[in-house]
Amino acid sequence: MFLSVATIHQPATDLGYLLHKHPERLHEIEQTFGKAWVFYPDASERRCEAALVLDVDPFGLVRGKGQARGLLDQYVNNRPYAPPTAGHAPLTATSIYSKVASRYSCNDKSLRGITMHAKLDLPRRRFLQAGAAFATAGALGLSSEAPAAPRVHTPHNLEALRRSLKGRLILPGEMGYLMAAYPNNARYADVLPMAIAMCAVDTDVQLCIKWANDHRHIPFAIRSGGHNYAGFSTTRGLLIDVKAMNKVSYDLKNGTATVQCGANNQNMADALSGTNFAVPSGRCPTVGASGLTLGGGWGFSATHAGLTCDSLRESNIVLANSHLVTAKNEGPTKDLFWALRGGGGGNFGVNTSFTFELHDVSAPVTIFNIVWPAQQQIEMLTLLQEIQLKFATQISTRTKAFPDGPGAKPKLDQLLVTTLGQFFGPIDQAREALAPALDLVRPIKQDIRQMSYWQARDYLITDDPNGMYDLRSSYVAETLSREAIEAMLHWMMEWPGGSLTQENMGILFAIGGKVGDKKWNDTAYVHRNANFIFEMEASWAPIDKPETVDRQRRWLSDYYDHMQQFLLPQSYVNFPSRDLPKWQHAYYGDNLPKLSRIKREVDRENLFRFEQSIPPA
Ligand SMILES: Cc1cc2nc3c(=O)[nH]c(=O)nc-3n(C[C@H](O)[C@H](O)[C@H](O)COP(=O)(O)OP(=O)(O)OC[C@H]3O[C@@H](n4cnc5c(N)ncnc54)[C@H](O)[C@@H]3O)c2cc1C
Repeated sequence: MFLSVATIHQPATDLGYLLHKHPERLHEIEQTFGKAWVFYPDASERRCEAALVLDVDPFGLVRGKGQARGLLDQYVNNRPYAPPTAGHAPLTATSIYSKVASRYSCNDKSLRGITMHAKLDLPRRRFLQAGAAFATAGALGLSSEAPAAPRVHTPHNLEALRRSLKGRLILPGEMGYLMAAYPNNARYADVLPMAIAMCAVDTDVQLCIKWANDHRHIPFAIRSGGHNYAGFSTTRGLLIDVKAMNKVSYDLKNGTATVQCGANNQNMADALSGTNFAVPSGRCPTVGASGLTLGGGWGFSATHAGLTCDSLRESNIVLANSHLVTAKNEGPTKDLFWALRGGGGGNFGVNTSFTFELHDVSAPVTIFNIVWPAQQQIEMLTLLQEIQLKFATQISTRTKAFPDGPGAKPKLDQLLVTTLGQFFGPIDQAREALAPALDLVRPIKQDIRQMSYWQARDYLITDDPNGMYDLRSSYVAETLSREAIEAMLHWMMEWPGGSLTQENMGILFAIGGKVGDKKWNDTAYVHRNANFIFEMEASWAPIDKPETVDRQRRWLSDYYDHMQQFLLPQSYVNFPSRDLPKWQHAYYGDNLPKLSRIKREVDRENLFRFEQSIPPA
C-alpha cells in the first residue's frame, strides 16, 4: 500500500479548508477540480509528485510533524518519485527534506530514517490527542476503569494495521474486496474504500480507531449491515466493517440477549427463534442491529413492545480515544447511553455489542396481508389508520398505496392500497378489528392467519430493495388527513417515470402505541408524539438515464416539500437523505443541544464525522 498525493492547483486555501472540514467530500472535490489530492493505492500513484507536504500542509491537511513525517516516510521509503507534472520544479528527497525541515524548524537530517523518528518523537497533534483523550475519559469519569486500547505498536500505515488485526484488511484487487465494499444502496457502489478492515474482535475496532486518529486526513466509515440509505457507511478511506462480529447469545434467567455489532435481524432471529423470547427488531433480514438500534428501530412489534432501542440495556462502545467502555443507564456513561438510543449510527464511537431486554412472545399472533383494488383509496387509507389507532398497542401495520406496474404518471385507477402487519391476539379478534376495511371494498388479495410469533416474523420480512434509491421521511402526528392523502395520491400520479415500479411512493409505518409511552427526552429518539412515519421514495436502475434520475429526484423533493404542511417537521434518522433540508432539527428536534453536548464530551475533536453527523457543541 503506497501513498500518493497529487498537487492542488486550484485556489488552495478554500480547497484545503473544505477538505479539512469535510474529508468525506474528497470525491466530490476531485470531481470538481480534477486534481485535488488523493490517497489512493493504485492508478493515481502515477500522478504523484513530491510537492505533497509542501502543497498540502499549508491548507491544514497535514497537521503536525508526526503526519508530515508519516507522509514522507511512506512516500520516500516505499516508492520512487514520479516525474513532476508541468509547472512544478522537480523535487528530490533532499529538497523535500530541507523544505519540510525549514517549515517545521528542524534539522533536515533529523527527518531521515531512524534519526527522524528520534527527533520528532512526540508530535504536537498526538500530544493534543492524549490531552483530549484524558479530558474525555475524565468527563465520563472513566480514567481509572476504562481498559486502554491494546498495547501494540500504533500502525502508521495499512500494512502495519493489516499485521495487527485479528480479522482481515482487504485492499483493492484482493479477494472479496468488491463484495465487501458493496453497500445496500447501489447508488453509492462506486464509492470504493482504500482499504476494508474486516474486524473480528473488539481490539480490531480499537486498532482501527487508533489508525483513524493517526491518519486524520484520511476519511473512514463504520459499517455493520451496510443499509444506510444515504451511503454514510461508504468511504474512500478506511471502511471499518464489523459484520463478522455477529454472535448473538442470550441469558433467559436474566431475560437478556447480547448481540455483537455485526449481527443483523436474521442473526438475532436465528439465535432466539428456538425460545419464546424476542428483541423487537426490523423487517429486513440483513439490516444490522447496530444501525437499527442506534437510530431507533421500527418493526412490526414497535407499537406493542416499543422500538429496538427502547429494549437496550447497555452497549459496549469504542470511543474516539480508542477506549472500550460500557454505556449504561447509570453512572458516568448515562448520558452517552441516552444518546445511543436514537442518536443515530456513527456519531459517538463504534459500538461493539448491545445487550437487550427480552420480550415474551409465547402467545400466538395473527398476520395479515391484504391488497385492495384501486377504488376509494382515500376512504380506505383513512379507515386503516383509524383501525391502527383504535388498537394502538395490539396491531402493527405498514400501509401504503402503490401503482400496479411501472410507467410514468399512473392514473388513480392504477393505485392500489395494501396493508401488511400483525395483530397481537387470536385470528377472530384480528378479523373483527380489520372488518371495517374488509367490508368497505372487497380485497383482491387477503391472507389472514394465526401463527407463532417466529413464524409471523418469517412471513413479514422484506426483500432488500433492488437498485438505487433516495427517500424522505416525515412523521404524522395523528393521522394523515383526507386532504393529505389526496395530495399524496396526486404526487404519485405525477411520478415522472423510470424503469422500476415505484412500490414505496407513500408508506405509513405505525409507530404510536408503546413507542409513545416514553417522553421526547427520555431517549435521544425524539419522535414520541407521532402515530406514523410517512415515507416517500424514488428508485431507479442502471438502465435509467441520468435525466430520468434527475427528474425523479426533483419530483421527490417537490413531493416532500408539498407534503410538509400535513406533517410534523421531523424525520427518522434511520431513513436519511443527503438532500433532506434542516436535517439536524428533523432528526433530533429539541434533543439536538444535548446530543451536541454529549458529542463534545466523548468526541471533542470530531473524529466520527460524516455529512450528517452530530456536531460537537
Ligand atoms: C431494505 C431495508 C429495510 C429496512 N427496514 C427497516 C425497518 O424495518 N425498520 C427500521 O427501523 N429501519 C429499517 N431500515 C433502515 C435501517 O434501520 C437503517 O438503514 C439502519 O441504520 C441500517 O443499519 P445497518 O447496520 O444495516 O447499516 P450501516 O449502513 O452499516 O450503518 C448505519 C449507520 O450506522 C453506523 N454504524 C454501523 N455500525 C455501527 C457500529 N457498530 N457502531 C456505531 N455506528 C455504526 C454507520 O456508519 C452508518 O452511519 C431498512 C433499510 C433497508 C435498506
